[in-house]
Amino acid sequence: MALKALDIYKVLPKKNCKECGDPTCLTFAMKLAQGKADVDLCPYLDESARQVLGASTRPPIQRARVGVGERRVTCGEEFVFYRHEKTFYHQPGIMYLISDQWQEDRIVSVCREVKDMRFTRIGMDLRVDGVAIKNDSGSIETFAKAVSAVESAAHLPEVLIAGNPAALEAGLGVCGSFRPLIHAATPDNYEAVCALAKKFGSPVVVKAPSVDALGELTRSCVAAGADKLFLDLSRDTPGEFLRDSTLVRKLAISRVAPELGYPVYCDATGGGTQQTALIAMTAKFGSVIVVEPLSLPDRTAELVLRQNIFTDPQKPIQITPGLYRVGNPGRDAPVFITVNFSLTYFTLQGYLEATRVPCFLLIVDTEGLSVLTAVAAGKFNESLVRDWIAKTGLSSEVDHKTLIIPGYAAPLSGRIEESTGWKVLVGPRDAAEVGELLEKEWPKNG
Ligand code: SF4
Repeated sequence: MALKALDIYKVLPKKNCKECGDPTCLTFAMKLAQGKADVDLCPYLDESARQVLGASTRPPIQRARVGVGERRVTCGEEFVFYRHEKTFYHQPGIMYLISDQWQEDRIVSVCREVKDMRFTRIGMDLRVDGVAIKNDSGSIETFAKAVSAVESAAHLPEVLIAGNPAALEAGLGVCGSFRPLIHAATPDNYEAVCALAKKFGSPVVVKAPSVDALGELTRSCVAAGADKLFLDLSRDTPGEFLRDSTLVRKLAISRVAPELGYPVYCDATGGGTQQTALIAMTAKFGSVIVVEPLSLPDRTAELVLRQNIFTDPQKPIQITPGLYRVGNPGRDAPVFITVNFSLTYFTLQGYLEATRVPCFLLIVDTEGLSVLTAVAAGKFNESLVRDWIAKTGLSSEVDHKTLIIPGYAAPLSGRIEESTGWKVLVGPRDAAEVGELLEKEWPKNG
């Protein structure tokens, strides 16, 4: 059972010493209750308090990562069954299946597609995450060769799928330092596979014929030294997957069965249509999903679905602050400034493009708040504008010093002029009217 903030506070040392990074023990307790801090940050907890708090504040579904570096896939750390209860933290990683029986050029081509393909939607890059290499040949050498072909094409998060621990070891010999996910530890081979997981620091998938047997096997794997685990819930039909993944999630979230508190691995390639299985696994509750390489429409649909499910509705969607260009602006081009709320950015950018006047768009960091809210909350202010003009080197891009601010920021115009030394032109409240503004005021005010 998860503890509430006040229950946690009772156990803390109450020194208010700030060494945990929080100003008081109470704020630290609140963070612990939300799963946003680690008990180990407080150096004054005795062992019994550490154990009590550790067990009740740790995410009920443990974190595990596949791969290293910028593209690594983080899974687990989930606290809730429904997104509206809090949020879902990690979207599932989609892995394209590669057979070790394929020709090398086909392997390389799939890897390059995974490496290079991406598209941007609402300011976010959407892409497939990695590849899963399967030992269909049964040959250790062929498997190692296929893993080498993947490695020569790209360093991507990988899943190594083989029934024979010797084949897994050969694959790990090629890419072990990149922490691939090992598939799979079974009741028959778990000791050898867990030894490999320990040796290479890799996460490992646990596979057993039933949910009960999975729980038993995860305990054995932990005892054998492998603690970064995934549960294999691949099933013959999407319906069976939904049944078992729902059961496992409920038991894990309620902490009734901590031995099932691990991210879920699933294979969407077997049984039924792959697309139906993929949708079911993305919605509930796949963490790593293996699929046959997808067609462009299927890939787009899947990545958009995943984005929609795993975007937190409580957090405004933001774009990266900075200096953007609309068209090819010259040194006399107008400069607009606005907030980093995605909807504001895309609306304004669209209307600016329609004017066909090349211009600069300076986006400042208001934590995703809209103009009206950011002005009211003091997040859009003269110091912020001054700092972002300096950070982006705007002065070196243009020969004038005129800034067009949003209409809702009009009350700040005097303070912005004073703080930045730039002349302020107040823009319209409605982005649809920027064309009119430019027609009337530019370049005479530039
Ligand atoms: S380090 Fe521990 S004692 Fe100090 S403020 Fe944080 S929780 Fe309180």
